Amino acid sequence: MTPVLRNDAPPLVDLHCHVDLFPDPASIVLSLENRRVHTVAVTTAPSVFEHTKRLALGSRYLRAAVGLHPELVGSHGRELPRLLRALEDTRFVGEVGLDYSSGTKDVRSAQLRIFQEILTHCATYRNRVVTVHSRRAASDAIAAVGNGFPGRVVLHWFSGTKRELERALSYGLHFSINPAMISFASGRALAQAMPRERVLTESDGPFVRIGTRPAGPLDVARVVDWLASLWGTTPAEAARVIEANFDRLLAT
Ligand code: MN
Repeated sequence: MTPVLRNDAPPLVDLHCHVDLFPDPASIVLSLENRRVHTVAVTTAPSVFEHTKRLALGSRYLRAAVGLHPELVGSHGRELPRLLRALEDTRFVGEVGLDYSSGTKDVRSAQLRIFQEILTHCATYRNRVVTVHSRRAASDAIAAVGNGFPGRVVLHWFSGTKRELERALSYGLHFSINPAMISFASGRALAQAMPRERVLTESDGPFVRIGTRPAGPLDVARVVDWLASLWGTTPAEAARVIEANFDRLLAT
């Protein structure tokens, strides 16, 4: 039997990983180079973007994204101008969006105002790739993006309804699927309703866990394996579909 060389495997894609929140980000970056995992390193506040930007210097696989997590709008909302300036430096934006799982009406309206302002600024560049959080806020998040957004929007760990999914598809949005999502019947049902040309993979590490350890970018292989069985194809072919989808995000 001929051993399969690791480097023959098609590259993987992790569209949403909090690389800066791992204890040793440099070792994560090294693992991406070795396995070839195109990774978007999201950040949760504009003040930590510079650090992640430095991590991505000289890496062929890591892209730094500037973000402002909706749950940090209260503590870091005043950093919004910094995010808007950083849009000059990167095509990747996230983690941004809405989270209605807790918080008052005032907090939600502040989240929505900030998210809308970020989207408005991204739209002027026409090619920004935005990874969006929408927990319990799918309808508002999709409506804020709107139909025909000039750029690319990827709904990360989508957990809305089928109807919301249909609307997001009709607006041209994409989805990134992580290992936690496919461990629940609800997440699997949503993934089954997504056309394969709109699907990307993500780890959402270190928040998503595999057993007792945090998920890392290489764990997107688990999602690829699952998608391969869903699509009735091989893991290598599923990985090529995801890579082509990623290439198209960047082709705008
Ligand atoms: Mn995240």
